[in-house]
Amino acid sequence: MNKCIQCGQADLVPKIVQLDGQVRGEHYTVEMLGLECPRCGYQTIEGPTMPEYRRLLADSYRATYGLLTSEDIRARRKRLRMNQREFAKYVNVGEATIKRAEMGKIQDRHTDEAIRRRTDLVLSATASRIGRTEAIVTSTNGFGAPFLGPDVTHWTLGCAGPALRHNIAPYLASQFVASTRGWGK
Ligand SMILES: [Zn+2]
Repeated sequence: MNKCIQCGQADLVPKIVQLDGQVRGEHYTVEMLGLECPRCGYQTIEGPTMPEYRRLLADSYRATYGLLTSEDIRARRKRLRMNQREFAKYVNVGEATIKRAEMGKIQDRHTDEAIRRRTDLVLSATASRIGRTEAIVTSTNGFGAPFLGPDVTHWTLGCAGPALRHNIAPYLASQFVASTRGWGK
């Protein structure tokens, strides 16, 4: 067991901890599995989980600035059933860029937009295959979810069949929320 380095009086136990950190000069707090001292409350994480900590911090920053998170990027790639190399080629960025972005390095705007552009079009193509409701979504905006207005999103969520509601609506909703985050700034 790990003795608490702060009070030295107890062993640290596994616990969901809240940790502060900085990304590009801004403060964020992330939650993850770590260790806590039951006596003095000291919290820490283990060395091997540092990359996850940094990724979560980066994701907080990305969420704040309307950028895709590591998980978003991975999910979009997986939906296309591509490995990182295939996906990089498809998006037209370097393979290392995709690898690093999925590990937590914050992608630049250009990369973010390139990924959205390519994967949003796929969403539209998928949509038109599934049925009429989705086809309307496709023809309403040509670019997919980030350009949907509030009414369209609402309508889509309200009228969609089970397949769309289950598979695509949460995605549309998350994209819509992400795309509106920068509004009014
Ligand atoms: Zn302690």
